[in-house]
Amino acid sequence: MPTAVVVGAGIGGLAVAGALAQRDWSVTLLERGDRLRGDHAALLIWPAGIHALHRLGLGPGLAEISSPITERGIRRPDGQWLVRQDDPAAAGEMPVVVHREDLHDALVAGLGGRIEIRTGIAVRTVRPAGSAAPAVSAGTTTWEADLVVGADGVDSLVRRRLAPEAAVISAGCTAWRAVIPWYRASDLVEKLDRLPTGGTGGETVGAGHRFRYALLGHRGSAGTSSRGGIYWTATVPGAARPESPVAQLALLRRWFAEWHAPIGDLIAATDPDELIQHPVTELWPVPRAFGFHAGPGGYALIGDAAHAMAHHFSAGAGMALQDAAVLADAMRGVTAGPALVKALDAYTQARRPEVVRIGRQSRRVGAVLASNRGGSRTRDAALGLAPGLVGRASSALRGLRRP
Ligand SMILES: Cc1cc2nc3c(=O)[nH]c(=O)nc-3n(C[C@H](O)[C@H](O)[C@H](O)COP(=O)(O)OP(=O)(O)OC[C@H]3O[C@@H](n4cnc5c(N)ncnc54)[C@H](O)[C@@H]3O)c2cc1C
Repeated sequence: MPTAVVVGAGIGGLAVAGALAQRDWSVTLLERGDRLRGDHAALLIWPAGIHALHRLGLGPGLAEISSPITERGIRRPDGQWLVRQDDPAAAGEMPVVVHREDLHDALVAGLGGRIEIRTGIAVRTVRPAGSAAPAVSAGTTTWEADLVVGADGVDSLVRRRLAPEAAVISAGCTAWRAVIPWYRASDLVEKLDRLPTGGTGGETVGAGHRFRYALLGHRGSAGTSSRGGIYWTATVPGAARPESPVAQLALLRRWFAEWHAPIGDLIAATDPDELIQHPVTELWPVPRAFGFHAGPGGYALIGDAAHAMAHHFSAGAGMALQDAAVLADAMRGVTAGPALVKALDAYTQARRPEVVRIGRQSRRVGAVLASNRGGSRTRDAALGLAPGLVGRASSALRGLRRP
């Protein structure tokens, strides 16, 4: 039986570990955290990510834990739409929103009983790619395998050893995320129902700042997650704030004070312990390969370890799921030797060109969305009147449909 070690139990690591085990690999999963868990915010998953979940055998339970996004587009701070995509014919192209802990639970359930899970293990050394089999170590213990998967996130140690040319750089902004649970959101939902701007979500951009919100499940409806509520993300230019969460919420209230309803209400209804701050970073350049030969086997990079990008498209987790599905399929029926080495090359060829293309679009869209230069009129014109840019962005997203 071929052997794999997966470093990191985020969305990508959990997905690939479960998928390799399903394909008769003996898998060890190493996670530095003391247990397997997701954070308490939510995620949008684009059709490509949904398709990957189906390929990974996790599609059937998705409807129970996710809510479709029925309205998509970009608004100005006064609520006026710049770009709107709510064409019912495109409904199959719409993303869903899912609580991250629910997605994590589904992925953990998908691991089955055959995987060796080691938590509290921080990998510290990686054997260089070359003539010897791949291996990683943590302190005195070394794990050698036919395949080592680096799923250890944007600051990946595995990637730093294999592709040192890829550097982690600041995307120039900081993001905050929160889910306001339903039991504290009832008044907000009534307000949303009355909004002329459309109450179900979307993104608003202005003066370098951005705000997105989405409804996660419905109050009291059967089958939806008990972790439902209203999910929001705010993005602001500049570095992470050192203040307490209470002070960060006060700053957010001030920054978004003049923005259309319900943005101020959502920030006001958020508890400090629901707030998660993210300094936004990305990987540049993208590693020259996502698969590296080592003796009769090799290493593969997936998810943010391979191609972290700023959250302009809200697509990183979905792309990690795609990587997992493509890598696991490439490894089906493969054992150590030339077939495995060839499968690693096939994985790079299948994923890297698309990832580079989406990364390029993301950086361009991010530059326009965040732009202060020339004032917001110039940016609004770029978004509203330059269908080329928005069209290319949305085809990048539609291009995510099939892994
Ligand atoms: C503000 C914001 C909003 C976003 N919104 C969305 C969205 O709506 N939709 C979407 O698809 N994506 C979104 N993303 C991107 C998404 O969160 C990431 O792309 C995704 O979580 C990457 O998953 P991953 O498994 O590759 O890495 P991670 O989730 O970072 O997991 C890496 C794991 O490896 C472990 N680890 C790290 N180093 C070691 C080590 N040395 N030894 C052992 N274990 C280690 C970590 O503890 C962690 O568990 C967003 C990102 C941000 C910042």
